[in-house]
Amino acid sequence: SRRLAGKVAVITGAASGIGKATAEEFIRNGAKVIIADVQDELGHAVAAELGPDASYTRCDVADEAQVAAAVDLAVERHGHLDILFSNAGIEGAEPQDDMVSLDLGNFDRLMAVNARAALAGIKHAARVMAPRRRGSIICTSSAAGILPLPAFAMYSISKATSIAIVRATAEPLARDGLRVNAISPGSIRTPMLVRYLGLLSETSPGLSEEIKQTAMEPSDAGPTMEPVEIARAALFLASDEAMYVTGHNLVVDGGYSVH
Ligand code: NAD
Repeated sequence: SRRLAGKVAVITGAASGIGKATAEEFIRNGAKVIIADVQDELGHAVAAELGPDASYTRCDVADEAQVAAAVDLAVERHGHLDILFSNAGIEGAEPQDDMVSLDLGNFDRLMAVNARAALAGIKHAARVMAPRRRGSIICTSSAAGILPLPAFAMYSISKATSIAIVRATAEPLARDGLRVNAISPGSIRTPMLVRYLGLLSETSPGLSEEIKQTAMEPSDAGPTMEPVEIARAALFLASDEAMYVTGHNLVVDGGYSVH
């Protein structure tokens, strides 16, 4: 059951939600995990909760230098890096129900955190992984990157871009013996989902109620799942069982994006 024995992982956005659940799953499977986030208090608390194989570092993924530093910290602290899970993400400041009043400042921020950070992670993880010719990079995209989410055009665009980043970098990384894959979750019960439903209720109260009431039941936005469902997908992609899986987008959405 210790499918990641001896492996070292950096997980961004691991102070909460999907990242936290994945840190837990990785540690249960024998990995050492660096939790990289911008919520310092929560991040330290999560590291304490997960025990001696977890530690916390502050890392704003929108800043390439901080992504590089988190990767370097893993090598300093544990000798090498096997897994980078670029999972930090934001939903954006406001629903975009009409295109005329889009705030492109919000677009730049979404792209920096949800897309550019994935590319920075790939660059810096590859820097330390390529010499050993082993490593698995995973990016949290979204089913919204395949089937755009109602009233969240810019978020959906940023997530589609992260899928494109994985596809475009898989071939050059493969030449270095490295793998890169995306995971595209549907609705996952995390603080982000609560914030999304709150924002959505401003523009589409009916839809937001439907998603809330049909939690765990199939709905137009798919079932609401627990973070561990994504942690299990990340565990597979991180492990040697996925040795030849690269450039893939693993969709875990209960059918949302195949509608
Ligand atoms: P969450 O809000 O619980 O966790 C996201 C974490 O990312 C937070 O701890 C936050 O502090 C951190 N973060 C935000 N900006 C950061 C930055 N600039 N640098 C470092 N850390 C930062 O939400 P979640 O649902 O666990 O989201 C994790 C990922 O899953 C995100 O990329 C999100 O877009 C994606 N996702 C979520 C859902 C869902 O339904 N919850 C669906 C599809 C995709």
